[in-house]
Amino acid sequence: MSDPSCVFCKIVAGQIPCACVFQDDATFAFLDINPLAEGHLLVIPKRHIERLEQMPAESLMAVTRHLPMLGQAVMKVVGATAYSILQNNGRESGQDVPHVHFHIIPRRAADGLGYRWNASKYAPGRAEQVHQRLLAALKR
Ligand code: 5GP
Ligand code: ZN
Repeated sequence: MSDPSCVFCKIVAGQIPCACVFQDDATFAFLDINPLAEGHLLVIPKRHIERLEQMPAESLMAVTRHLPMLGQAVMKVVGATAYSILQNNGRESGQDVPHVHFHIIPRRAADGLGYRWNASKYAPGRAEQVHQRLLAALKR
C-alpha cells in the first residue's frame, strides 16, 4: 500500500509538506516543487505503485478520471489555453520518482518545452514486422 522510502508516499502520509490541490480515496494532486511552468501539477494514486502497467484498471481509472478537471483548473488559474499530460515509466523515460505520477503542465506558445521529437522512418518491411509482433503480443 505504502513504501516508507518513497517520497510521494511520504507526501500522501503528510510526512513531507506539499501544496495539495485535490484528493479523494484513491487520488492525490499537488504542485510540483520544481515546476516546468507555474501551476505544474502532479497527480498520483495514494497507493504506492511504481509503474503504469502495474496499476489495476480500476485504480488507473479512479486517478485518471480527474485529469480533465485538474487540467481545466490549472489553465484557468494560470491563464493558459493548453496543457500537456506527461507520464514516465522507468529510468530511461525520465522517471525519477518510482511512484506512478501524471504531470499536468500548462503550455504556452513558444514556451520552449517539449521533446526532441527525432522522428524517423521504418526500413522497408519493418513496420509490418513490428505490427505483426504487436498483434501477437496482444492476442488474448
Ligand atoms: P519524474 O521525473 O519522475 O517524471 O517526476 C518527478 C517529479 O517530482 C519532478 O518534476 C520533481 O520536481 C517532483 N518532486 C520530487 N520530489 C518532490 C517533492 O518532495 N515535492 C514535490 N511537490 N514535488 C517533488
Ligand atoms: Zn510511493
